[in-house]
Amino acid sequence: MHIGALFATTFSVVLSLSFVAEKKRKRLLPMETTGTSEDCCVKVAVHVRPLIGDEKLQGCKDCVTVIQGKPQVQIGTHSFTFDHVYGSTGSPSSSMFEECIVPLVSGLFQGYNATVLAYGQTGSGKTYTMGTSLKDGCQTGIIPQVMNALFSKIESLKHQIEFQLHVSFIEILKEEVRDLLDPTSLNKSDTANGNTGKVNVPGKPPIQIRESSNGVITLAGSTEVGVSTLKEMSACLEQGSLSRATGSTNMNNQSSRSHAIFTITLEQMHKGNPISGDGSPNDVMSEEYLCAKLHLVDLAGSERAKRTGSDGMRFKEGVHINKGLLALGNVISALGDEKKRKEGVHVPYRDSKLTRLLQDSLGGNSRTVMIACISPADINAEETLNTLKYANRARNIQNKPVVNR
Ligand code: ADP
Ligand code: MG
Repeated sequence: MHIGALFATTFSVVLSLSFVAEKKRKRLLPMETTGTSEDCCVKVAVHVRPLIGDEKLQGCKDCVTVIQGKPQVQIGTHSFTFDHVYGSTGSPSSSMFEECIVPLVSGLFQGYNATVLAYGQTGSGKTYTMGTSLKDGCQTGIIPQVMNALFSKIESLKHQIEFQLHVSFIEILKEEVRDLLDPTSLNKSDTANGNTGKVNVPGKPPIQIRESSNGVITLAGSTEVGVSTLKEMSACLEQGSLSRATGSTNMNNQSSRSHAIFTITLEQMHKGNPISGDGSPNDVMSEEYLCAKLHLVDLAGSERAKRTGSDGMRFKEGVHINKGLLALGNVISALGDEKKRKEGVHVPYRDSKLTRLLQDSLGGNSRTVMIACISPADINAEETLNTLKYANRARNIQNKPVVNR
């Protein structure tokens, strides 16, 4: 369905929903986390993709070893342990989803915000892992599986709970937020700047990240589409994926220089019992309200600007991308340091648009999964090692290099 039509129809559905009795609502707060390692707010998994066509043609060797039975990965003399490691054999997508993502989806129904981050160099499989690749089909990746799980849970609970779902899909390019679901800027292209797909409409105010007095982050000026079916939500994912700006670099024709963030907001109104229970027609229904959001983030390629061989504008973009990823690394490592967290250390969310946007869904009571995507090819060994080091820092576990003799 065309996103403009979808937006118009769902908007009216949203308005007409009986989700209004604001005064009667009681905000249910999620239970406090206990601070055990089970509750650790950042979990890190590694996804090693198989060697792909081009790498095989070039005669690349596989230089990454996944240790059987352990969440451990080795490259050269370096060995790293993570929460989970998914190798290129078998079918990692279903176990990755069960182990890493299902707890986040369950948490969403309990009112916990969550973030999934796909990190790695261009070509390492981030978009494939997230499931926004139009080329690879949209069914096996994380986002389509999240959608399926979400709607089947809603289906099973719909008699006790009234649900409302919204999605937004934005990207951050050069520290600017772009709306991938804006119906008024569809089909415009910005080929002069090397972008295809959506551009911000001239004259339209830029999207701004705002923080409310209770710490909730909102995106003023971005499109939020109300959806009530899996089909409608999938249409948003597909439309936004099509619109995502891409540009070429020497590394990859469709190298992605932007962070793409697909956000699902779930509101729940628990259909309550009469408060007095006296059976009188004037009895008021008690209602409980919960709201939580899940950010699904396909990060920009983590390779350094110098490796893209870019100059001028592209180089500037590279520098900005590094700014977001650098800030993200600093935020995650501050969050992962339990001692510092207890001392109330400053977490540098404000250092980039990416971390500012994710502020209320990274740390605190929210849950975060970082999936470090890596290529097994020897030509990518240097970047793969960088990715593993970054991911390791996020996990805050001291890994000592081992020497293989
Ligand atoms: P990125 O988004 O990190 O730039 P992509 O997701 O576009 O990388 O993946 C790069 C290439 O590798 C694509 O051709 C994709 O089809 C392939 N690929 C990625 N992950 C896998 C996987 N797990 N199994 C098979 N092919 C994969
Ligand atoms: Mg990609």
